[in-house]
Amino acid sequence: MSTVFLNHQYLPMEEARISPMDRGFLFGDGIYEVIPSYNGKMVGFGPHIQRMRNGLAAIGIQFDWDESAWREVCDQLIQRNGSGNLGLYLHVSRGADSKRFHAYPEGVAPTVFAYAFEIAPPPVPDRSQATGYKVATARDLRWQRCHIKSTALLGNVLHFQYGYEQGANETLLYNSNNELTEASACNAYIVKDGVVITPPLDNQILPGITRQLLLDILRRDGSITVEERAVTMDEVFNADEVWVTSSSKEIAPVVEIDGKPVADGKVGPVWEAALKLYSAAKFDY
Ligand code: PLP
Repeated sequence: MSTVFLNHQYLPMEEARISPMDRGFLFGDGIYEVIPSYNGKMVGFGPHIQRMRNGLAAIGIQFDWDESAWREVCDQLIQRNGSGNLGLYLHVSRGADSKRFHAYPEGVAPTVFAYAFEIAPPPVPDRSQATGYKVATARDLRWQRCHIKSTALLGNVLHFQYGYEQGANETLLYNSNNELTEASACNAYIVKDGVVITPPLDNQILPGITRQLLLDILRRDGSITVEERAVTMDEVFNADEVWVTSSSKEIAPVVEIDGKPVADGKVGPVWEAALKLYSAAKFDY
């Protein structure tokens, strides 16, 4: 049985209740985060909380918890749920109104929910042990504010399900210009001639914290060149390597797209080198 945090209380998951009038439930009107934690050590805590604050400000939810308030909840969840490999899910919705009305209500307290769930151990930077991802591709049909980490994830769910039904681990998405955006729950990258290339931050993609850390780590190290620029789907299909990143997966190598191998269909050497660097530096953030 897991212990969760709901509106200033720690309680068993089975006893956690929210109102059906909660705007998170009715409208997907909220912001969330997932922070990975390994043996009690979180990765990217500060950047995750900053992104949550940005998201709350972007949708006008007044909720001013700072890093120390969130850290206390995360530490408690780790203590109360065992400190293995955990994803810490943090969620703030606009709260429960007395009526269903689109405009923001006045004087309604946000609903704050957090819980811990088990995640896979971090991947080992060794090509011979790596499991390659298979992905599908689809036209990105989500909304035009994908930089906000909204709890309204139906667009992402539909894209993920499309790939899932074909036996794929993820769905790579492209816009009307046939340019890669991201995946349904991950950021996306190609490697060409040793250069790691990923779409730039804009409204079409989530500013992933794994992406932020990875690009910073690679640039500081300097042995692998990084470019942030538009990537066409032709480039994706002709890449030497393709990766997707997220907090719970770190860097996942893609070996098959729409049933066709990426390059020779094997996990590539740049993935291994990048994951080595990421693994060594990730707890610095
Ligand atoms: N893009 C989308 C749409 C996501 O949902 C996620 C994670 O949930 C990511 C990218 C990766 O973000 P992060 O590295 O912060 O987990």
